[in-house]
Amino acid sequence: MQKTNFDRPLHPTAAGLEPPPGGLASYPPSEQWEDWMEYDPAQWPKKVERRYSLIPTICFNCEAGCGLLAYVDKKDLSIRKFEGNPVHPGSRGRNCAKGPATLNQVNDPERILYPLKRIGKRGEGKWQRVSWDEVLDDIAARVRKALKEERLTEIMYHVGRPGHELIYHQRILHAWGIDGHNSHTNVCSASARAGYAFWHGMDRPSPDHTNARFILLLSSHLESGHYFNPHAQRIMDGKEQGAKICVIDTRLSNTASMADYWLSPWPGSEAALLLAMCHVILKEGLYDRDFLSKWVNWDDYLREEHPEKPQSFDTFLNVLEAAYARYTPEFAARESGVEADVIVEVAREAGRAGSALATHVWRNAAAGNLGGWQVARALEFLVVLVGAVGTQGGTSPSAWNKFTPNPPMMPPPAKVWNEMLLPREYPLAFFEMSFLLPHFLKEGRGKLAIYFTRVYNPVWTNPDGMSWIEALTDESKVERHACLTPIWSETAWFADYVLPMGHASERHDLMSQETHAARWIGFRQPVLRIAL
Ligand code: SF4
Repeated sequence: MQKTNFDRPLHPTAAGLEPPPGGLASYPPSEQWEDWMEYDPAQWPKKVERRYSLIPTICFNCEAGCGLLAYVDKKDLSIRKFEGNPVHPGSRGRNCAKGPATLNQVNDPERILYPLKRIGKRGEGKWQRVSWDEVLDDIAARVRKALKEERLTEIMYHVGRPGHELIYHQRILHAWGIDGHNSHTNVCSASARAGYAFWHGMDRPSPDHTNARFILLLSSHLESGHYFNPHAQRIMDGKEQGAKICVIDTRLSNTASMADYWLSPWPGSEAALLLAMCHVILKEGLYDRDFLSKWVNWDDYLREEHPEKPQSFDTFLNVLEAAYARYTPEFAARESGVEADVIVEVAREAGRAGSALATHVWRNAAAGNLGGWQVARALEFLVVLVGAVGTQGGTSPSAWNKFTPNPPMMPPPAKVWNEMLLPREYPLAFFEMSFLLPHFLKEGRGKLAIYFTRVYNPVWTNPDGMSWIEALTDESKVERHACLTPIWSETAWFADYVLPMGHASERHDLMSQETHAARWIGFRQPVLRIAL
């Protein structure tokens, strides 16, 4: 076993850090992370001491980026468990079950530990261990040949769960002069992002649930929202402080069961419901006049759309009310099946909350229905009407709370249009139309000289997994497939190379997410390397 030096400070910046407000009442103080003692629970009722180094890192199992503490046993340098990091500003020491389950991933007896090369047919399941040099020589030669022959759409890097290198691989793709980044976003959040981006150029909402007076959610945020652990605890904070909650969701989720209002509309009618709420706000004068007059470009709108009318803010309000006159609660009731009285009641709650209206939609109705982007657009309209943008208890644009580092010396984007990513017949596509890739390959729009999948399992996650298997087994369409993954997956099974990756306690990443009304940066780090 390697000699360790426990006198060296493991994480000097953590010393003296206090948990953020709303954090845990009981936790290992950061001053004691170097040498933390707990009794071994497996030895109970005997009191057998174990001594740990507690090394902070960040969960890699969803985008919330919650803090973890790895409990590294000082005796044998093994990771005994993962618990929440009490000083992480977003998660505040709490995790969902997937955070501590990082231990199962690290110790998974079937995880990928070294590069593997296919030796049978694709999908046959025959593999041979190879060196990184062999893999990199082959892949680099293919990339080089494609670039030299100007086959600039034949290199594709398809990302499922990104880490920090998302920014840096863009830099590489730009430097190569190709448009080769593909994402999973069009089976996830693209529609909601479009709705938000068309409002304010930033494609995510960042609600301040803690300080809200009314929380309006489209989705089951307590158990499966986008930032569900950081959001869930703040939704509960808000509720404890008197906020009311409305959940618009066809499903009776755990979140809906805890809400003051559960509206279960017909799928696809959510935008009508929200527009009816806007109608009530406008009709009953519950909007924030000062906010609208200052921050909405009403004068541009009047000049472009109603040049014949007096160019005043009052004209704008009249025009707005007339434009939304047809979205009555009765109209929405017919569309959605939700009673008109309930729609009016929820609209008045939103109006009374004013600047403290926290809202969120990510996938849910926006992802599940044709034109779902209008759900996010209508929801943000409600937020704007009551003046809850960027306020305490309101809903901020994401970039106000999320820090995104710019890579140094970013080359300009390539002047190449990749029809297999953003085909011209979908001019409003907000992200790559990635779910259509196997169909584009099949109909002969192109081929791939080298296709990377990176923590991405389309065979399993996309609805037509068999189409993906068909494409991935056709070597004339996908000449090389390199699958970067910490564990086996259905997609890895159809690769030429399966390449290992690190889990949460094994990687370097910088993380920042819009989990609440503050901005934070955290570091994912290889904890055993720190402990050594
Ligand atoms: S909510 Fe937090 S703990 Fe749970 S998977 Fe996501 S990042 Fe990990």
